[in-house]
Amino acid sequence: MQHMKKQKETLMNILHSRETILINDPDIDQAGDDHICTGLETPLRPDAFELSDSEKIHDIEYHFREIMQTLGLDLSDDSLRGTPLRVAKMYVKEIFSGLDPANKPKIALFENKYKYKQMLIEKDITLFSNCEHHFVPIYGKAHVAYISNGSIIGLSKLNRLVQYFAKRPQVQERLTMQVGRELQDILGTKDIAVVIDAKHMCVSTRGIKDTDSSTVTSFYGGKFLREETKNEFLNYLSL
Ligand SMILES: [Zn+2]
Repeated sequence: MQHMKKQKETLMNILHSRETILINDPDIDQAGDDHICTGLETPLRPDAFELSDSEKIHDIEYHFREIMQTLGLDLSDDSLRGTPLRVAKMYVKEIFSGLDPANKPKIALFENKYKYKQMLIEKDITLFSNCEHHFVPIYGKAHVAYISNGSIIGLSKLNRLVQYFAKRPQVQERLTMQVGRELQDILGTKDIAVVIDAKHMCVSTRGIKDTDSSTVTSFYGGKFLREETKNEFLNYLSL
């Protein structure tokens, strides 16, 4: 009897401390709302790709089922039955597929035969990402520009590169930097600009619930740091 009482007490303590830790920790909410970004690289563990995609889908299906179960949902319902597997596949194969470097788009460069020396802008690239603090969508537009130093990149590759980095749990600041740095590497020039204008569903549907505000982030390298070049770029965006 004493033993059972003790067990119950321990369980209550665990439940209580769980509650205190998870629900009443102001730092958890604050870190999400402050958009804390810890570095340029997406924080991945060294063993991130030891599991195959199908093993990941299998594990996530199990855990997502547990989440739904905990929420009290009836998983024998025909409409809900397939949800854990659908979510798992969507995470691994679609919206978080950009975590895996194997999915990075192959980029071929061409020689700049036209000797085109002005900036090239790919604007209004559709952007879908997910906030790494709340796992809800970030959506908007990305605009990227470069000034060729002899190489040209296929236009659709700019879209693909943005989408690759967007398909990760992200912080908009980091996403912007990752696209900018990658383009500098690929094109062998510092002369890169990236602007992202996006809405965060963690801002519009919860917390402050502001549906009108959007977040703008930018990356400027090389010649784009000059006021004149930067303004030329920004003028094209308003066309
Ligand atoms: Zn968020």
